[in-house]
Amino acid sequence: EARATAPGYSRFYSPQLTTNIQHQQKLTEELHRAVLEKQFELFYQPQVDLETGRFIGFEALLRWHHPTRGLLTPAHFIEPLAGSSWANAVGNWIIKTACRDAAIMNRNGNNFRFAVNIFSQQLRLGQLEEHILTQLEEHNLPAELLEIEITENILLDQEEKAINQLDALREKGCSIAFDDYGTGYASLSMLKRFPIDRLKIDRSFIRNIADSREDTAIVESIMKLGKVFKLGVIAEGIEHSTQRHLLLQQGCTTGQGYLFGHPQPLSQLLPTCAGTLPESVLHDSLQPFSG
Ligand code: C2E
Ligand code: MG
Ligand code: MG
Ligand code: MG
Repeated sequence: EARATAPGYSRFYSPQLTTNIQHQQKLTEELHRAVLEKQFELFYQPQVDLETGRFIGFEALLRWHHPTRGLLTPAHFIEPLAGSSWANAVGNWIIKTACRDAAIMNRNGNNFRFAVNIFSQQLRLGQLEEHILTQLEEHNLPAELLEIEITENILLDQEEKAINQLDALREKGCSIAFDDYGTGYASLSMLKRFPIDRLKIDRSFIRNIADSREDTAIVESIMKLGKVFKLGVIAEGIEHSTQRHLLLQQGCTTGQGYLFGHPQPLSQLLPTCAGTLPESVLHDSLQPFSG
């Protein structure tokens, strides 16, 4: 304790910092194990038509069944995972699993669109396009039913590679959504440079939309941008019906949020949307990360 307050020591030898580093190291080891032992699962959150409440599609969201801490949301692990050398393998597994599940959910003639979030590493390695096309074909899934969600950081990280691969995917029919729109530094100018089909209004602008003129103005502006750039707009984080109504008033007709459904495992969505889970999937819920 005395040492920690002495000049020069506090910064480098604080017990807090040691604990953080130890925590990070442990987390990295546990993540490696999670990759090897397939402790991940995809949950799906509905995206709906705000007018009717009808499901349009689903966003795939990663969950980790931690051996001792239970079910973890990405806030607990996504940053170290994204920065690790396994990001590409896990990212590929996410695409593969989402395509498999999309095919299952669409068996009965549904046309649900599936949205997946990607890691920067997947673009950096340059195999995203190839991997997605392989998985679409493997699961006999029309490219129109797959949407790639991408954030500003990921786009800026790999500008040219990103544009090329996203262009190619769009040519095949996939769509690209700009996730967390409005939170980045370059949100405006990027619309001119990047191939994008949809803006996802970040939930920080939706949260207080009922009370905040500023947030209302931001949403209005995003709707205008959508119109001018001919992009779809979807709002995330809708929790209350007031938010839904205000969005509809502004012309925003698609959304996602706890009001309509939490992220859920496929097995819970299937009965209401597409019948029952096939045997092959029941015994195979945690899949290998190869391919
Ligand atoms: P995101 O892509 O913006 O995903 C939306 C997040 O908002 C999800 O959190 C979702 O559970 C949460 N959410 C949805 N509706 C509501 C609502 O009404 N209220 C509130 N408060 N929250 C809501 P989640 O699943 O914890 O994921 C957090 C972030 O982690 C995601 O943000 C995404 O950036 C990242 N992530 C999640 N899954 C994946 C994945 O498979 N791959 C990659 N690369 N990133 C992922
Ligand atoms: Mg997303
Ligand atoms: Mg988002
Ligand atoms: Mg977000």
